[in-house]
Amino acid sequence: MAMTGGCLCGAVRYEVASAPAFAGHCYCTDCRRSSGTGHATVVGVAEADLKLTGELKAYTSTADSGAAVTRYFCPTCGSGIYSKGARPGMVVLKAGSLDDPETMKPMAALYVARAPSWDRPAEGLMMFEAMPPG
Ligand SMILES: [Zn+2]
Ligand SMILES: [Zn+2]
Repeated sequence: MAMTGGCLCGAVRYEVASAPAFAGHCYCTDCRRSSGTGHATVVGVAEADLKLTGELKAYTSTADSGAAVTRYFCPTCGSGIYSKGARPGMVVLKAGSLDDPETMKPMAALYVARAPSWDRPAEGLMMFEAMPPG
């Protein structure tokens, strides 16, 4: 089943042909700042399976791992759509951009050591202090 999504103003739309490789919450400092809240909820999919329309702006920063991670967002409404660079061949969609947010289920929480007291990960998730190995 294809996942579809887009930005707040509707200028950016996307479709993903394959099932997600992973889904989870990231509490790293970059995700906190760029999301505007305590964490980002993200869905990893194969880059080759993402079909996207509309203009995006990009911002690249260096992650803890040393990888250059580029975050793509709508220049009109500012909604974050996806990022890439953390894992080769993968893109990471912002789960809040999905048309139906129930099409994905978070499995893990990353960088839980940095989760603020007012935004703690839910029980039952796989917890990683930082980035999981591999
Ligand atoms: Zn927009
Ligand atoms: Zn993060």
